[in-house]
Amino acid sequence: MTLATLADVLQPALKGNYAVGGLVTLGWEDMRAYAYAAQSIGAPVILQAGPGCREHTPLPILGKMYRHLAAEVDVPVVAHLDHGYTFDECSKALDSGFTSLMYDGSRKPLNQNIDETARIAELANAAGISCEGEIGFVGYANGENSAGTDPDEAAQFARESGVDAMAISVGNVHLQQDKEGGLDLPRIQAIEAVTSVPLVIHGGSGVPVAQRTLLAQTSKVCKFNIGTELRMAFGAALRASVNSDPDQFDRAVLLKATHDPVMTATQSVLRAFGAPDLRG
Ligand SMILES: [Zn+2]
Repeated sequence: MTLATLADVLQPALKGNYAVGGLVTLGWEDMRAYAYAAQSIGAPVILQAGPGCREHTPLPILGKMYRHLAAEVDVPVVAHLDHGYTFDECSKALDSGFTSLMYDGSRKPLNQNIDETARIAELANAAGISCEGEIGFVGYANGENSAGTDPDEAAQFARESGVDAMAISVGNVHLQQDKEGGLDLPRIQAIEAVTSVPLVIHGGSGVPVAQRTLLAQTSKVCKFNIGTELRMAFGAALRASVNSDPDQFDRAVLLKATHDPVMTATQSVLRAFGAPDLRG
């Protein structure tokens, strides 16, 4: 059993100069490939359920799936709620066996974001699990624009909300399909100068791999969320599988062909974060 909280994996990453992948799951096939990829290289992994995942599969089911995978491998596995928007949603994730709750109040005024996030952090910490908050707003490709994180606000947010990890907006954008958008390194340095809380980069798929490695080794960025990059690997593998045999209608067979390609893509993503081999 290697179920872990977010703090369990990010504090060693902060001290050991590496980062942990927050991998966006959509279903059994991808989360299983992520867990076994982490196992194969001895890296910790954060399995996370965002709004799209929760729309597809109920939280209590996802909690069971994550915990089952954590029991199957011997690297630390975090069961993480990504972008929880209400107290009830976070509370339901806690009841469903999640070990980390992200509350996203980043569209709200600073004081409201702090107050609401602090409530979730209290809920989480009282139950022995972790909380991630977001300060500044990370936008979406072809959607809402970002609002960069102000270092003073980040310091206040970290101090007053009590979060275990803080997502920041430093040039990162959700749903990017290429890796051309580098991050604002001076802004990251200004933020990490005023807080000791591990930092999180959402929209990690758009960050060049060399910069992920550099930040993992040299900054307080300890978690990169990776969704799009691995969804693209899954989609390409599934499309190839479907096209390879027009007579095949059994989805278990069609989906099986996604395992190896998604596992290989995940190994590559996780290796770049530089974790030591943690296999117990
Ligand atoms: Zn996000």
